[in-house]
Amino acid sequence: MIDTKDIRVIAFDADDTLWDNQSYYDKAEEIFLETLSRFGKTEELAERLFETESRNMPVLGYGAKAVCISMMETALAVSDNTVSPCEMSKIVSTVKSLLSIPTTPLEGVTETLSAIKDSHRWRMILLTKGDMLDQQNKIRRSGLEEFFDKVVIVSSKGEAEYLNLCREENCNPGNLLMVGNSFRSDIQPAVAVGCKAAYIPFHTIWRHEKAEEFEHPDIVRLGTFSDLLKILL
Ligand SMILES: [Mg+2]
Repeated sequence: MIDTKDIRVIAFDADDTLWDNQSYYDKAEEIFLETLSRFGKTEELAERLFETESRNMPVLGYGAKAVCISMMETALAVSDNTVSPCEMSKIVSTVKSLLSIPTTPLEGVTETLSAIKDSHRWRMILLTKGDMLDQQNKIRRSGLEEFFDKVVIVSSKGEAEYLNLCREENCNPGNLLMVGNSFRSDIQPAVAVGCKAAYIPFHTIWRHEKAEEFEHPDIVRLGTFSDLLKILL
């Protein structure tokens, strides 16, 4: 169990930590694959999309707009530019619907954030990566904004972003606890710079976020978001 007595700042991931995001993206990908089924086998089409996304990620970043461009590019490539306007329209409207997903807080999230806030012992930061406007809208729709002292939206979450956050918060890495569902983005880079991390896996994860997991004295793995209270209070 990690030692939480030095924690002054708690940073929370948003997607798939505070609300469900990935299952909507999984569903959109399913519809994409069905729509293009006449151009290839599901696994092959999925692989082509994964390759396109991987190639585009350094310039397009994360989120629905990036996925949309990658899907359209993949559709044109696998169909040798013969994909129909109707099929393309279906893909675009499916991905566009991701910009209005409900972002209803997951079970226990509101109560847990409320209890942490009421204790007045920690600064609470929301640290999320993705498209600025989409992330802002999701946070607003969730109704959770009031719990956070600050919202930070970044293009990617690596060691530099965690060090930056510590600098901005005027704390040592050992004073910051990162809470999130992605071992690759929320846990690994945070502990690499000396932060502590609470890993709360979600039932589904984006293939690009998959990572080799390891045990570490600064990492605690929790079953549910509410378990945070057991290590903090
Ligand atoms: Mg996440």
